[in-house]
Amino acid sequence: MDLKKLAATLIPDQDLLPLGKYEEMYPPRNLPPKAEVTRLAPSPTGFIHLGNLYSALADERIAHTTVGIFYLRIEDTDEKRKVEGAVESVIRSLKYFNVNFDEGAEIDSPLNKYGPYYQRQRASIYRAFAKDLIERGLAYPCFCTEDELNAVREEQTAQKLITGYYGKYAKCRNLTEEQIYANLAAGKPFVIRLKSQGDTSHKITFRDRIKGEITVTENDQDVVILKSDGIPTYHFAHAIDDHFMRTTLVIRGEEWLSSLPVHIELFKVLGFPMPAYGHTCSLMKVDNGTKRKLSKRKDPELSLDYYRKAGYYPVAVVKYLMTILNSNFEEWERKNPQSDYTQFKFTIEKMGKSGALFDLDKLNDISKTELSKISPEDMYAFLKGWADEFGSESDKAHFADKDYVISILNLVMGIGGKKRRKDIERAEQAAAMICYFFDDTFSPVYEYRFDKDTVNAVLSGFSAVYDPADDNSAWFAKVKEVAASNGFAAEMSDYKANPSAYKGSVADVAEILRIAVTGSPNSPDLCTIMAILGKQRSLSRLAAARVN
Ligand code: GLU
Repeated sequence: MDLKKLAATLIPDQDLLPLGKYEEMYPPRNLPPKAEVTRLAPSPTGFIHLGNLYSALADERIAHTTVGIFYLRIEDTDEKRKVEGAVESVIRSLKYFNVNFDEGAEIDSPLNKYGPYYQRQRASIYRAFAKDLIERGLAYPCFCTEDELNAVREEQTAQKLITGYYGKYAKCRNLTEEQIYANLAAGKPFVIRLKSQGDTSHKITFRDRIKGEITVTENDQDVVILKSDGIPTYHFAHAIDDHFMRTTLVIRGEEWLSSLPVHIELFKVLGFPMPAYGHTCSLMKVDNGTKRKLSKRKDPELSLDYYRKAGYYPVAVVKYLMTILNSNFEEWERKNPQSDYTQFKFTIEKMGKSGALFDLDKLNDISKTELSKISPEDMYAFLKGWADEFGSESDKAHFADKDYVISILNLVMGIGGKKRRKDIERAEQAAAMICYFFDDTFSPVYEYRFDKDTVNAVLSGFSAVYDPADDNSAWFAKVKEVAASNGFAAEMSDYKANPSAYKGSVADVAEILRIAVTGSPNSPDLCTIMAILGKQRSLSRLAAARVN
């Protein structure tokens, strides 16, 4: 068969370069010897999940700790799954978690010398290599229809055979020249398939950087390399891209392990050295006592948007992922609580070989710890960022008043107090926690433990003497006065010595005031809360809290 003629007929493109030119256009990178070039290669479906962040974080850490490059490539060969704005959303979501690309799609960088970074824009490179494979008798056109392929699959399934296009099932593999040209003349659509040279009785030993040594069976499937629209499949495109973008390490989900034999053969026939691969284990969760993979359908926490909307502190999410990515991170973190996680020596070899258990409770704990370390200024910036993007109209309005919010945060975070508060988990919760400082979201529950006359007398008694200029002890002395003049013990010790002689103690009086001002019997220091609210707002709350 005249393979040159066949290749020129199947791929008549005029814009293809001689293959060596691509090597010149995309030369090996000039990087230090141990530098790793890693990439994230998502399809632009608009759904970016925790698994992507998990891999991206590993990619980013490895590239940056080895003074290498981490780039973004968009695998958009499947037009149907493409969603507008998906690329920006990937970049934005990852940036939120401090994962930044050095080069790639939509990244403004002088390093962008290995593009285009959208696979659809690279069609001619793939087609040039497919054409070469046809010329070398290593690829061929296949005219099988969907129905024919389905029938073969059914037959194979019924006979409990491996499904696919191989051996005697590879019908178009041995078409004669006449048959091929007749099909083409009849206008039949075709795909280009690899003419596999593999043999399933051969085993290949492969060293995966995460899983260690694994043995796979040689590929014998004549996989599709160019689809009928001339666009490559993932298998073919990624091999060409990882070679010409000079990727040294591919970190991807373990669902790709089953395709590894195909990829090994593709690199071989293309004549490219293989980059190293590390297949990450799937994120699992315990559901009703059994472990299962996190699922897009069942688990909202798989989506990265979930964490942004709920207002997780990004560093907490990153640190949590680091604990599942590298088994020694937690110990390092314990020894270096003040250090930035980027100082940790991340290594691919320490990554887990099997199912990583995702535990939301643990993430929440880390989140509380992280938020208990930051300054009110940083907390404010974080909460405002969240409110502006995801908060209600009231949240947005509340966070507009920086000084007021910072004074509240100083108090609720326990700054300057004996102990920093360690129970703030997420922005959403923090916003709810401070909403009683704002009249539009102040929704008190006036549940007093004393009769109407006592409550009203305490409220008006304290209103009459309240002076915002009082310090904490002067303020408390006034609470005591109001207690004494309303039948409460001003000193706890007096009350304890003779409880039946009083209506209650000074603590009960403070509780009435607290309910009136904050709407609840539990709050941080009331004197400070009143100072933050200001005289006017405090007095009108005391008045509004009277019982009719
Ligand atoms: N486009 C593939 C995916 O989204 C990428 C796999 C890889 O990283 O090679 O799963």
